[in-house]
Amino acid sequence: MSSCPLCQCELKFTNTPVFGAGKIVTGESLCSQCYMKFIKADSKTSLKKLTIDEVRLVIEKPIELPKSTGKDTIPATKTRIELQLENIGYGKSLFGRKEIAELPNLIIADEEIFAIVQGMYNESQGILVGTNKRLLFVDKGLIYGLKVEDFGLDKITSIQYQSGIMFAELTILASGNTAKISQLVKNEAKTFADKARQKLSDTKLHTSSVQVAQQPLDIADQLEKLANLKEKGILTQAEFDSQKKKLLGL
Ligand SMILES: [Zn+2]
Repeated sequence: MSSCPLCQCELKFTNTPVFGAGKIVTGESLCSQCYMKFIKADSKTSLKKLTIDEVRLVIEKPIELPKSTGKDTIPATKTRIELQLENIGYGKSLFGRKEIAELPNLIIADEEIFAIVQGMYNESQGILVGTNKRLLFVDKGLIYGLKVEDFGLDKITSIQYQSGIMFAELTILASGNTAKISQLVKNEAKTFADKARQKLSDTKLHTSSVQVAQQPLDIADQLEKLANLKEKGILTQAEFDSQKKKLLGL
């Protein structure tokens, strides 16, 4: 008779997860109790790929409790944020970004995330999160800790999308201030801008002043950057030629 590799209890028909669901990488099976503990701690990772030591790490990992950010901001639960992230199908490139882990502390209970993009703002790398209430730029740095800047949708007068050769930029005009988020992945930034515009017009108040402009960056400027890229060997001659043709509209 075999035993559970985690708690060493004797495995019987009655305490062994069905269909081999409790099996780990060695083929040994956890008992139902340990299996449930694992599922509660991490329902996403496939158990059958893990060693018993990895399973132990998952189960013993302390559960992070969301911190309160103020009296009128009720932290949403992690699962709710996770669900929202799933719904927007947020990019795999964002996976593991430290800022994502902060979202449960930042997103209030009745806030819905519509999109997230990665970019630069004020010389720091972070994520731009769009919700039904605001756009917020979150940067979690090693040195300065967490930096958050938010722009209430009711304060935003326009969102401009500009696309360059490799990256795009979003310019947010809010309360007379201009915020530029750069180094955005083009198609993601476009989607973000479109959705943000939708949210802005949903807030009705600003319907008349909402403009989403799509202005190409200066062509000469782009050509110069393109030439630099070719010089550095990032672009081949053929790639350079085809991009140049596109830019000049040939
Ligand atoms: Zn067990």
